[in-house]
Amino acid sequence: TIIEGCDKFCAYCVVPYTRGKERSRTSDSVLNEARRMAESGYTEIQLLGQNVNSYQDPSEKNSFADLLAAIGEIRGIRRVRFTTSHPRDFRRDIVEAIDSVPTLCDHVHLPVQSGSSRVLASMSREYTREQYLDRIALIRAAKNRRISITTDVIVGFPGETEAEFDETLSLLDEVGYDGIFSFKYSARPNTPSLRYADSIPDEEKWRRLQALNAKQREIQIIRFSSHLGEIIEVMVESENVARAQLIGRTSQKKTLN
Ligand code: SF4
Repeated sequence: TIIEGCDKFCAYCVVPYTRGKERSRTSDSVLNEARRMAESGYTEIQLLGQNVNSYQDPSEKNSFADLLAAIGEIRGIRRVRFTTSHPRDFRRDIVEAIDSVPTLCDHVHLPVQSGSSRVLASMSREYTREQYLDRIALIRAAKNRRISITTDVIVGFPGETEAEFDETLSLLDEVGYDGIFSFKYSARPNTPSLRYADSIPDEEKWRRLQALNAKQREIQIIRFSSHLGEIIEVMVESENVARAQLIGRTSQKKTLN
């Protein structure tokens, strides 16, 4: 964990109230830990934070992208991942780091939550659909890497109209995600969105969730099919003894049996 807490205050989330303000570790302490792990034989490092890319070195030595690149260059480290990124603070230098340091994995998880700018404003997400798509364009513009993109989506946020839900479906098409994590909105205790009426009936939330996942399945078949015939390096993470299979992950974080 390189940063704890959150300064963003999304309407549906309790984290800023339970974990407090964002606090970053010094890059020296993170790098020293990563070096110790590499010396102990670890080969993959995952940098964690509720808003990992909002990382700010308190000693002002390194940006998040600098830290990422420096960890990727530690001898013995084969893979570096990071999660979760907030779109507001996602900058070009992160893509440039991935593009230039081979051990940084070809994957960015960039939660969007909704494809509608009105719903995003109601969620207090601090970006519009257009600004989010600008971040996607930065990732797609990587010169040397094919970076996979995954996201989180909430359906049935209070007041989400059918047309606004359709904007989320069209965003899936526009981005072409490699994977999504989808959630049905439910009010959480002590969150600002409790003051909104939970206006979408549960069966309608289920319908939207199923429509979303059906759309993503279509997209995912196309995206996964694009790997047919490729030879890809895999980090083996576990074993399915019954099937005599090894289970690993590609740099894009796709599971490979
Ligand atoms: Fe912060 Fe993420 Fe919660 Fe938003 S959803 S308040 S960015 S932790």
